[in-house]
Amino acid sequence: MATILDGKLIRDQILSELKPRVAALAAPPQLVVVLIGDDPASQVYVKNKIAACAAIGIKSRQLSPPASISTEDLLTLIRGLNFDPEVHGILVQLPLPPHVDAGRILEAVAPAKDVDGFHPINAGRLLAGAPGLRPCTPSGIMELLRRYKIPIEGRKAVVVGRSEIVGKPMAILLLQANATVTICHSRTVNLAEECKRADILVAAIGRAEYIGSDHIQPGAVVIDVGMNRVSGRLTGDVDPEAMARLSSAYTPVPGGVGPLTIAMLMANTVQAAENAG
Ligand code: NDP
Repeated sequence: MATILDGKLIRDQILSELKPRVAALAAPPQLVVVLIGDDPASQVYVKNKIAACAAIGIKSRQLSPPASISTEDLLTLIRGLNFDPEVHGILVQLPLPPHVDAGRILEAVAPAKDVDGFHPINAGRLLAGAPGLRPCTPSGIMELLRRYKIPIEGRKAVVVGRSEIVGKPMAILLLQANATVTICHSRTVNLAEECKRADILVAAIGRAEYIGSDHIQPGAVVIDVGMNRVSGRLTGDVDPEAMARLSSAYTPVPGGVGPLTIAMLMANTVQAAENAG
């Protein structure tokens, strides 16, 4: 029987460990979330992030400039937050409206307050193995693997997806934990064959249940990052039946990776506040 890797359980552990760190600070950490437009999924994510802040004593503020805001005006807003000593974390909820230059906005966030870990300085520090704020989803997956005592060193890890926010940083973190890492993407030839070599398979592609029994080595650990809405239902990138039947352990969707992402956002905010103190 495959072990279900319970993201909510690990999220609760992480959050309860953060509470005393928050309490030990001279002033509460503060996270500012910038949400532009009325994308329903973004609104739900932001609501969940703000609720998580409240649960552990992090102060949070939501800024909702109009969808018509220009790149320049948004840059001015971000710079103001960079200089506000009471703000420790700045999160710009993606996606941004198409007329806004997302790259310039993300680069404008002070690296010390970049709790999403998306700034090129933090990406570079990750690559160099230097301390810095790490992207939340991959660092949450590393926490999950660590806390479930899943061995990584010397094992073959395959990451499907090479985005800046999930696939690439995931591969680097697994490499730093001494896995032998393969990164696959949309141009990979014979994806199933590559995936089937994995002791640890991470699927982060954004295609509902695309990874099936042909891709999973019996006994592999499967991490399903996907969050796809199909007829109103949330599904992962991996066929849940194949995962349950073939893997030794897997993350369900929902209740797997999603909760960890928010927990690590909280961890990054606390870390940023501690660093600032
Ligand atoms: P992106 O769209 O940015 O990247 C998708 C990656 O998958 C690309 O590298 C792409 O390859 C690759 N890909 C697409 N189709 C295939 C295919 N048929 N075969 C192999 N590789 C393919 O997505 P994200 O990384 O942002 O997100 C991935 C998934 O994870 C989404 O479902 C997203 O909703 C979810 N997600 C979940 C989070 C959570 O907290 N649970 C957090 C963030 C994301 P190429 O580069 O060649 O185009």
